[in-house]
Amino acid sequence: MLGVHEFSIAEGLAAQVLANAPAGARVREVEIRVGALRGLEPEALLMCWDSVTFGTPMAGAILQIDQRAWSITCSDCRREWTSPVPFVSCECGNATPIPSGSDELDLIAITVDEVET
Ligand SMILES: [Zn+2]
Repeated sequence: MLGVHEFSIAEGLAAQVLANAPAGARVREVEIRVGALRGLEPEALLMCWDSVTFGTPMAGAILQIDQRAWSITCSDCRREWTSPVPFVSCECGNATPIPSGSDELDLIAITVDEVET
């Protein structure tokens, strides 16, 4: 299922890459970091990325998504750990540890082919 959410992220990302890549260069790879709070579906974003970059210098560029994990803190035993999902139980039996995450969406790196002159 394609979310409007992922589509608008892909569009924003493509605009950002285009603004940062050297003119005329072919983009090979784009690396982003996404905070857990974004609730992003990487597969949906990849599909949207393919569709928004179609026919642009970014077409076929690999999108590397570094999705940050949730930080979970147990209010009972004070244990802290990271988890790919926000709602988990703690080993001590507490069923409602507190999840926290960041909401960044950062463009980390753009790899381009050499511009031919
Ligand atoms: Zn605990």
